[in-house]
Amino acid sequence: MTLEKKLSQYFGYDEFKEGQEKIIEAVLNGKDVLGIMPTGGGKSLCYQLPAIQMEGLTLVISPLISLMKDQVDSLSEMGIASTYLNSSLDDATYEHRLEKIRNNQYKLLYIAPERLNSYSFLEMAKQLNISMIAVDEAHCISQWGHDFRLHYKEIPAFIESLSSRPVVAAYTATATVRVTQEIKHLLKLKNPVESIIGFDRPNLFYQVVKTGDKFKYVTDSIKANNQDKSGIIYCATRKTVEGLTQKLTAQGFLAAAYHGGMSSELRQKNQNDFIHDRIRIMVATNAFGMGINKPDVRFIIHYNMPQNMEAYYQEAGRGGRDGDISHCTILYSPADIVKQKRLIQLNQTSAEREKLLFENLQYLVDYCHTNECLRKKILEYFGETPSYERCENCGNCLDQSEMVDVTIDAQKILSCIYRLKNRFGLNMVISVLRGSKNKKILELQLNEISTYGIMREHTVENLREIIMMLVAKGYIWITADEYPVLKLTSSASNILRGEEKVFHKKHLVEMKVSKSKDKS
Ligand code: ADP
Repeated sequence: MTLEKKLSQYFGYDEFKEGQEKIIEAVLNGKDVLGIMPTGGGKSLCYQLPAIQMEGLTLVISPLISLMKDQVDSLSEMGIASTYLNSSLDDATYEHRLEKIRNNQYKLLYIAPERLNSYSFLEMAKQLNISMIAVDEAHCISQWGHDFRLHYKEIPAFIESLSSRPVVAAYTATATVRVTQEIKHLLKLKNPVESIIGFDRPNLFYQVVKTGDKFKYVTDSIKANNQDKSGIIYCATRKTVEGLTQKLTAQGFLAAAYHGGMSSELRQKNQNDFIHDRIRIMVATNAFGMGINKPDVRFIIHYNMPQNMEAYYQEAGRGGRDGDISHCTILYSPADIVKQKRLIQLNQTSAEREKLLFENLQYLVDYCHTNECLRKKILEYFGETPSYERCENCGNCLDQSEMVDVTIDAQKILSCIYRLKNRFGLNMVISVLRGSKNKKILELQLNEISTYGIMREHTVENLREIIMMLVAKGYIWITADEYPVLKLTSSASNILRGEEKVFHKKHLVEMKVSKSKDKS
């Protein structure tokens, strides 16, 4: 039977999605593969279809326990024998499944990576005829990825322990060069056939909103555009999730919470309520969403800025799976940077990794401050070079705000950083520019430098906005440290010499005198 026939007979689809056929053919020819496809691109089919065709068992390693059950259920409906082993099973069920696996009753077996630690599982695996190992979410093996899982490191040794080497197929939605190199290297893929398909999701409308009242923005925008539509609001912490859910339900919105601190029953209930439209708004931490396939999510709001572009792209990517428009909005506030930094530090990883996480965070901060096309910025992060400068379909491209020349402000800021010898952080630079008399400034005699007080008519927020815009444009570099300092980059001299001009949105650089007394 041809592959197309199998596709329609088992899965009910008329044609392959981009990239699927190439991967499936390679696997069936005994080649290792690396499939890089965005979320929703159809990765599962790339191992499910060949699994039916191949002799023996396909082992799918996946960190997503909730996804395993869903996939096994839908495979069963198609008449494909499959099962899963993970920590959610009681002993009797687990043993019963092992027995059936030993008797070759399944075509696909899903396991969580932790199983690779289990002696009984490893002993059994040696006896099985495993023809393919599909490693889902393969970026979890890379410590440069955003979702490193220690047990993924055990996969290569596991493969070597098998009596014969199966085909190894790795799949991920993370396409940065560093991560893909690591996947190939660590999983020891043998001359893999690679398929990288486009990351652009044209039906997602990206925007960044700077508002002093996030809650009002959320309620106003839902009432105006998304009444009776489904959406997810991502927050950085469980506390914010709880608080926001309460405030929304108090105002009559059909909202529920989802985070790792809730009981699994309640999480499951809320998830089901969301999928079946009994609630409309899921307020969640990043614990929500992996493997959830609700097609008609019309808006994804990030109440707090996410920690990195991979996470953002994945979370935003849960919108509009049906191909219709979905609005993906980050509600930016500078306090979120501090919040995310604290979360990174709480992780207590190595100094090297922490630096990387800070760098990744900075890319998101730049995304929030750029005036360029947001879609382009996202695609560039994933190594794509869009053919356009502007997509004409994102918050920045459609922004009608008046732009004003802020070259002189930029020159003042850059020369202040220069006079401060690239040694101070954002708050200190702002304080010096505003002529603050705080103790540290007087102690360090920073009140004597020539740029002291040259921007006293600006508010703190206003200066922060211009500085971050200059960072996003690459004139200033913020070091990725616990106490980051601002440094000039080589392109800053173009501005200082007056060879280049800088423009910014008028409403963001309006000059207002700070009402509050400067406490910095
Ligand atoms: P991913 O794992 O890449 O996020 P999935 O494997 O969950 O994506 O697939 C996303 C959606 O696309 C699913 O609803 C799946 O049924 C559907 N899909 C996969 N392959 C095809 C195809 N060839 N034609 C139509 N729909 C497909």
